[in-house]
Amino acid sequence: MKFLVQKFGGTSVATPQGREMVAAKVVAAKEEGYMPVVVVSAMGRNGDPYATDTLINTVKQINRNVSPREMDLLMSCGEIISGVVMVATLEKMGHPAVFLTGAQAGIITDNNFTEARILRVKPEAVLKHAREGKIVVVAGFQGISEEGEITTLGRGGSDTTAAALGVALNAEYVDIYTDVDGIMTADPRIVSDAVAREMVTYDEICQLAHEGAKVVHPRAVEIVMQKNIPLRVKSTFSDAPGTLVTSSGEVYKGTIDITRDRTITGITQIPNVVQFKVNTNGGEGLKQQRRLFKGLALAGISLDFINVYPDQVVFTVKEEVAEKATQVLENTGFVAEIIPGCAKVAAVGAGMTGVPGVMASIVDALAKENIPILQSSDSHTTIWVLVRQEDMERAVRALHRQFISGA
Ligand code: ADP
Ligand code: MG
Repeated sequence: MKFLVQKFGGTSVATPQGREMVAAKVVAAKEEGYMPVVVVSAMGRNGDPYATDTLINTVKQINRNVSPREMDLLMSCGEIISGVVMVATLEKMGHPAVFLTGAQAGIITDNNFTEARILRVKPEAVLKHAREGKIVVVAGFQGISEEGEITTLGRGGSDTTAAALGVALNAEYVDIYTDVDGIMTADPRIVSDAVAREMVTYDEICQLAHEGAKVVHPRAVEIVMQKNIPLRVKSTFSDAPGTLVTSSGEVYKGTIDITRDRTITGITQIPNVVQFKVNTNGGEGLKQQRRLFKGLALAGISLDFINVYPDQVVFTVKEEVAEKATQVLENTGFVAEIIPGCAKVAAVGAGMTGVPGVMASIVDALAKENIPILQSSDSHTTIWVLVRQEDMERAVRALHRQFISGA
């Protein structure tokens, strides 16, 4: 059997019209000779009756300290409702279908409630129903622990469900359907002329996701990568070809090396970060720096954008933990300059490796817009700059113009 895993996000299944478009994509796959396995998210966004955030708020209004175990039981409901509604839609159109919860579909996880990790998949039930010719609809975002507890997989978890099923079923593709035409050159909410990329590598999409383009969960990419199963990101609402995600530089089904024809694949942004410049020139530089990093690590604070100089350490943290970080510094006797209201903007592209002048172009583009760079850093596929939050959107647009739209 030629399996195709098709995952549909919350916006795709939110309305009856959306669900009919979802069903049309599933039926089209079946007509192409695939056995579709459909993974669904909960219907809609916060405020919609069965959206995950709505369910959470229903309980949090009563008590903010409900245990993660109970929260997982609650949060698993959205996908169950959505999945049964999907089966109803498919069957109304004359296509036999069956719904399975994560547990019924054999998604086995650890017992880290609300952020569980998939340990393995036992696909027997999916295979049995598929052999009977039924379209199997599986609840995304949920699983079952070895102790039999219902768990959820964290934000973006339905992508991970689809990826794990794709690997377990050795699917031809894992298709992630959403409300945009694919992996775009920038967040379309910021850059109006962002375009969908025809192809990106697994590494690039992971990097894009880590840097704020949360269109596919990075964990999902890590899972499909292990078995080299190609991922496609497509729109439920159009017939655009979408983005094919596959191994780096590999010749895929006769197409060419995808990283050579461009330097930058996309521009991303992460708002709400705080920069710390910590003075460590108290005479015993290294020892002090050790003490600093240890103190922050013990407090469980994850740092980003770290630069170490002989008498200064510069780093950023997420806004939510800035107060805690400030406290740690005070308690350990460090003096720091704290700059709130920063944003991280990144240019990502496997094609930048070995290309000279990328940083020069970035500085050039930002200078033209009078946007000061507060800090910068780079790896072989990414260059980051830290800017003031109020400059973030302009910076994203400036870099998009410089590297992508060229206007
Ligand atoms: P779903 O509910 O389908 O899982 P998500 O909200 O998780 O959808 O992801 C899709 C959204 O990601 C798009 O609507 C888009 O606004 C946003 N996004 C941000 N950056 C990008 C990008 N570079 N390419 C595509 N989408 C992006
Ligand atoms: Mg998503």
